Amino acid sequence: MSETVILVIEDEADIRELVEYNLKREGYQVISARSGLDGLELAEQKMPTLVLLDLMLPDVDGLTVCRRLKSTPATQKIPVVMLTAKTEEADIVSGLEIGADDYITKPFSPRVLIARLRAVLRRDTGDSSEAQEVIYAGEIRIDSGRHETTVSGKRIELTSTEFRLLYLLAGRPGWVFSRDQIVDAVRGDDTIVTDRTVDVHIAGLRKKLGPKGKQIETVRGVGYRFREE
Ligand code: CA
Repeated sequence: MSETVILVIEDEADIRELVEYNLKREGYQVISARSGLDGLELAEQKMPTLVLLDLMLPDVDGLTVCRRLKSTPATQKIPVVMLTAKTEEADIVSGLEIGADDYITKPFSPRVLIARLRAVLRRDTGDSSEAQEVIYAGEIRIDSGRHETTVSGKRIELTSTEFRLLYLLAGRPGWVFSRDQIVDAVRGDDTIVTDRTVDVHIAGLRKKLGPKGKQIETVRGVGYRFREE
């Protein structure tokens, strides 16, 4: 039995049951709450591994719950995945900005749900900064152990910030990273990256990637994503 405990905060019984069923089938332990306040209480009592959080809740809304979780020292490290309707795009952005780790839009397939949660859990347990991993993104090869990038077999020289940026974006193709998330992820000991300088680093990175630079797409009002070829 997995030690992974997932707290599901969702007021709609149908969705909650569907989620619970699928998570349990994957071997996760599930606890659930029907309201934001109950969810917060459970999170603090049980310290779950991950929180799956609906944004539209009857008492305190999901964004408030997320903010509370992320501003309370005991719970701030617990990853939060938001469950949202497509129409709540502004909420998705706010949620990511206040520290949510990912989101899933309704309606979703159980397969997508499980894949997203696994990815977040993997990210959470693995110390990505130390991971010795090679990412292949089409013609681009990024070797984090050697700190080396090649495009179509040819080595390109990136600054450490550009390298971190590429590693982050290409490591999760299709995923939209907000500027804040990027700032957090690429911050180094020696470099200060702000949400404004992110754009400058992205521009530099695109240039060095040549034609492949087009794979880094700007998502207006949000941030950037790496498009798969
Ligand atoms: Ca709801």
